[in-house]
Amino acid sequence: MEVCKNCSVKEYNTFGIDATAHLMVKYSSIDELTDFLKKYRQEESHLPLLHIGGGSNLLFLSDFAGIILFSEIKDITLLSDDEETVLVSVGAGVTHDDFVQYAIQKGWYGVENLSLIPGQVGASAVQNIGAYGVEAGDFIKTVHTISLEDGTSRQWNHDELCYSYRHSIFKDQAIRGKYAVCHVVFQLKKRFTPCLNYGGLRATLQQKGISEENLSATLLRDIIIETRQNKLPDPKVMGNAGSFFMNPIVGIDTLQRIQAKNSNVPYYEVDKETVKIPAGWLIEQCGWKGKSIGPAAVHDRQALVLVNKGGATGKDILELCKAVQQSVEETFGIHLYPEVNFIGES
Ligand SMILES: Cc1cc2nc3c(=O)[nH]c(=O)nc-3n(C[C@H](O)[C@H](O)[C@H](O)COP(=O)(O)OP(=O)(O)OC[C@H]3O[C@@H](n4cnc5c(N)ncnc54)[C@H](O)[C@@H]3O)c2cc1C
Repeated sequence: MEVCKNCSVKEYNTFGIDATAHLMVKYSSIDELTDFLKKYRQEESHLPLLHIGGGSNLLFLSDFAGIILFSEIKDITLLSDDEETVLVSVGAGVTHDDFVQYAIQKGWYGVENLSLIPGQVGASAVQNIGAYGVEAGDFIKTVHTISLEDGTSRQWNHDELCYSYRHSIFKDQAIRGKYAVCHVVFQLKKRFTPCLNYGGLRATLQQKGISEENLSATLLRDIIIETRQNKLPDPKVMGNAGSFFMNPIVGIDTLQRIQAKNSNVPYYEVDKETVKIPAGWLIEQCGWKGKSIGPAAVHDRQALVLVNKGGATGKDILELCKAVQQSVEETFGIHLYPEVNFIGES
């Protein structure tokens, strides 16, 4: 176990916000975590706990006057294997993209569309990360947690995890922040059946002269990585947390109201009554693409991404967030909800 006092979190959040945590504890096994929690309950239970992963979906609004937990549980274990599927247990501290690469190398398929999404496997189960028509929750069979309140372990089955768009039970108010995810069990397929229906993947294949018959999971991963690198700013170069807002899901009546003025509004059908409208399009229509407020800016290639141009505080990013929300609300009557988790006081 590694403990750091008055620890800078600058290297632990992809926005690159320079805040401090009272204490950071890195643990590499469930025993280390439960030992720490025992001691914490005896001596430090007045301090708040916050479990983080790679910090790629966090915005520190202030210093954190509590204890940050960071998992370095990194085992990957094949639990079972039948003709069609495998069950694999993955430590929460494994980098999500390393797991995707490992799975493809092993011939285990399903998560290749989630290539290059930053962060750890533990957070992927909290956030239900998604890209190109695939969500982590589609492949998560169980999640193993330790209660931060009493140190007990629990296994959550798929149905209990309540996965939906960027949502899991761990985001519900009653449960939020109360569990450390320690292992995630994925059920992956042994046969590669690519999901190409989203994000222009089929068109990209055509442009590259690749037929579906010749497509391997490795090739699909490479294409997704290339597409993402062209579209999204690299947090190592310019701080960001990917999509800052969730794509709003609205009723058909709202879509029709917007279509009356903007016939080209893009949307994806969610069900017979609702559609998802890309938040980036709404923000771009309001003229925000490439605009800044001080050191916080809306990215000039992808309006859904807010960036730290250098030296921004969490409050600078929050000010921009609020200004964008207000514009979209005034122009389209739609409230944008942040996907990013705010930490600390505003
Ligand atoms: C450039 C870029 C591109 C991105 N693209 C996508 C994308 O395409 N799709 C997508 O869905 N997301 C995307 N994201 C967002 C981000 O990668 C995901 O939300 C990711 O799951 C966050 O993982 P993390 O390990 O960094 O978690 P953090 O940001 O550190 O934490 C996220 C949440 O999970 C909780 N948490 C983390 N680890 C644990 C644990 N072990 N136990 C309990 N709780 C935990 C935290 O408390 C917090 O609430 C992108 C981000 C960036 C910077």
